[in-house]
Amino acid sequence: LGKLPLIRVQLVKLRQDEYVFLLNAHHIVFDGFSLEVFIRELITIYATLLENRSVQLPEIKVQYGDFAEWQRQWVEEPSVQKQLEYWKNKLADCSPVLELPTDKPRPRELTYRGEKLFFQLNPELMAKVKSFARQVKTTPFVALLAPFYLMLHHYSGQKDINVGTVVSGRNRPELENLIGFFVNTLVLRMQVDESYTGKEFVQLLQETVQEAVANQDVPFEKLVDALQVERHLNYAPLFQVVFAFYQMQSTEVQLPGLRFEPMEVETGTAKFDFSISIVESPSGVNGTVEYSTDLFERTSIEKMLHHYQRIVEQLVQHPEKRLYELSIADAEEERQILSVWNQPITKELPQLCIPDLLEQTAAEHPDVPAMLYVPSLENPDAVVEWSYQEFNERANQLAHWLIRKGIGPEDRVGICMERSPEMLLAVLGILKAGAAYVPIDPAYPKERIAFILQDSGVQLLLTSGNVYQRLSEMPLPETFILETNSPELAKQPRGNPSVVRHPDQLAYLIYTSGTTGIPKGVMVTQRSLVNHTQRMRQIFGLQVGDRVLQYITLSFDAAGEEIYPALISGATLVLPPPAAELTNEFIFQICEKYKIQFLHLPVPVWHSWHDFLQENQLRLPASLQRIMVGGEAPSLDRVLQLPELCTHSVQFMNLYGPTEATITTTAFSMDATQPPEFYAGQIPIGKPIPNVRTYVLDEYLRLVPPGAVGELYIGGLGVARGYWRHPDKTAERFLPDPFSDQPGARMYRTGDLVRFTPDGQLIFIGRADTQVKIRGFRIELGEIEHVLRQHPAVRDALVHVHKDDKGNKRLVAYWIASQEEKPSSADLRTFLQARLPDYMVPALYVEMDAFPLTAHGKIDYRALPVPQFDRQALN
Ligand code: AMP
Ligand code: MG
Repeated sequence: LGKLPLIRVQLVKLRQDEYVFLLNAHHIVFDGFSLEVFIRELITIYATLLENRSVQLPEIKVQYGDFAEWQRQWVEEPSVQKQLEYWKNKLADCSPVLELPTDKPRPRELTYRGEKLFFQLNPELMAKVKSFARQVKTTPFVALLAPFYLMLHHYSGQKDINVGTVVSGRNRPELENLIGFFVNTLVLRMQVDESYTGKEFVQLLQETVQEAVANQDVPFEKLVDALQVERHLNYAPLFQVVFAFYQMQSTEVQLPGLRFEPMEVETGTAKFDFSISIVESPSGVNGTVEYSTDLFERTSIEKMLHHYQRIVEQLVQHPEKRLYELSIADAEEERQILSVWNQPITKELPQLCIPDLLEQTAAEHPDVPAMLYVPSLENPDAVVEWSYQEFNERANQLAHWLIRKGIGPEDRVGICMERSPEMLLAVLGILKAGAAYVPIDPAYPKERIAFILQDSGVQLLLTSGNVYQRLSEMPLPETFILETNSPELAKQPRGNPSVVRHPDQLAYLIYTSGTTGIPKGVMVTQRSLVNHTQRMRQIFGLQVGDRVLQYITLSFDAAGEEIYPALISGATLVLPPPAAELTNEFIFQICEKYKIQFLHLPVPVWHSWHDFLQENQLRLPASLQRIMVGGEAPSLDRVLQLPELCTHSVQFMNLYGPTEATITTTAFSMDATQPPEFYAGQIPIGKPIPNVRTYVLDEYLRLVPPGAVGELYIGGLGVARGYWRHPDKTAERFLPDPFSDQPGARMYRTGDLVRFTPDGQLIFIGRADTQVKIRGFRIELGEIEHVLRQHPAVRDALVHVHKDDKGNKRLVAYWIASQEEKPSSADLRTFLQARLPDYMVPALYVEMDAFPLTAHGKIDYRALPVPQFDRQALN
């Protein structure tokens, strides 16, 4: 602005009778409507000069400066202040950013680099739009804007959407002939609720637009100031997408001896993430999309436009249909999702169970070591080694003993043990007896252990001597201290027990955090487990004699991904000592010393191990073939640093899967020495493993178009039987699979938001609810809140996750006292420690008089005080 002129013109002669007239004006002196004034006057002047007459333009009564001064006074007037109040109320706690799925990660600072894409709306369709608009008593603008909201909703998964639009601001006749900046930007905020019919939705939008227009006098900059919108360098305040529709007489001008028409210019810029303008003129309906090339590829914009037009067509065809009845993805896209990116389920499945597969391995490779227990790195004498034959026989003896005790199919047997050869024996012994195991972490507080024992109704509990000490005060079912040299077991036969095993039998019951305050048990059957085991064996490429570290605690289902694929392959499980003793150094040493080839780590453990290797300038142990991480999204930075840690080729895998779908649903694999260029800067969770299917659906269970954000549903053989003794919760999360041709097929609703990359990889976006992962543990914040409210001095509680300065997720409890006498933070912590596992106990406790609420009466998480974390505080 400091450098004049603000308007430049140039005439470029192409041929004797063909010219390009260039006009370049700063927006502050010239708006879109100024162009019309300009052209009108240009024509008049041109025509007059041709006739050699003197130019007579209409007299101008006011100048832009007058207007500016007047506007400054006028915004202070009560009527405009009232409009400002309207906007404050209307836009209170609107979502700050429309997260359209982008092809590239949003840069920290927008460059405003952009591109234009031109399209045309079929005139017949436009005629239908207009007649539809008349029918519902609205304008073509609103009739075209409504499907735009729907398209944005389908792509972003958001419901509360702001779109910007421009009004001329020339609401007085004196202003009509002025050149200058009069336009104002209006924010149109709409809730997209697809239970409305198209007609109803358009009518609601019509009201929104009408109200906005009635309050159009507040200049946009004033509004941004007044709302105290937080400003960011990487997105525009209040709205990031713009919609405009104009009707023009003609874009072509005919004068004696001269014809001129507009030329589209590519400016290489974009003011917003995505702006669409549609111009109807006698020459047709021409649309332009201007999009940020910081964020989008052209193909994605083309797809969005394609879906926009699909919605326009359906809306005008069927205005009486509910919006959820419209189909968004087209037939070709559905085919791609259901038949190309998802494979059919194998019809003929072997009727085998895990014990059958172990027995086969033991018969084929009796002398291969099945397990190496390494309690210490210094003392090689303490190492325990069992061959497949020995392991199988010991498991048989336990199974025979269990069977004599009357344990059989569908019975639950608890395992409360630390990692040890006995723990592994317990798992296989129980499965061989045809029963299901219930892993219980001995580190849990007594109350939780007692709850799981009671809720699962275990007939028998297997434990170890030292854990038993801790359990003795609680009511226990029949309990057996499992020792390898137990004389009771030694008496049992060594042969494989002959029990009826069926793939539909329960294999294990694993408890996860529950929203209503109590953990819930997930029932996984042999069929799901066997499919998982066989598929992962293939994916990992496990061979006889390979060494797999058994790192993961048994109460995590992922422990099964180490144990079973190894045991059906004739590989050797290497057991380090219990979790508490496992340092980064130990993991490194055991991998080096015992030539571990397969290392499976929860993401937070991998992060910490990665940092340890870097700080100590160590490299990945030479024996490693594969590192598998999962449970949370791995950090991109570390994945990109992997090559620096590699001295040889290692496969790195990101595994994703909820307990309810049997350990791993999708897998992504890459060569650690050469990380690919990740789509949108995100490491995919990959594609479904065979016999598992993944659908990305909206809330009405429609497939969303590839690339759009939706919730992940999982079908196929991994789907668990449901939640133990909770038919209501089971019905809520396990739904009939509408995309399956198998009768009775179900799909699991994960609560995870995902989308497809153009080549069918899934990308994890986040959660649709308040479930979180802390240090790898799955936590429902509602469960902690529920327990905290049980404290007599707590009236209400809220738990929220904040990140500390190192980026670690920390739990913070906000609470409201119910009495004068107030508990200290230490009291609250002690109270929770007695009832919840360590990882669920918040690091900090903040007392409040009331929780901050939004204008709509919901908790305003953004307004919660952010506490300071001290270094010691955990979680
Ligand atoms: P769990 O039942 O403990 O296995 O937890 C399952 C949840 O963990 C999923 O629903 C996701 O929210 C999250 N999760 C698991 N694996 C991943 C991954 N690789 N990337 C991102 N989130 C993950
Ligand atoms: Mg999992």
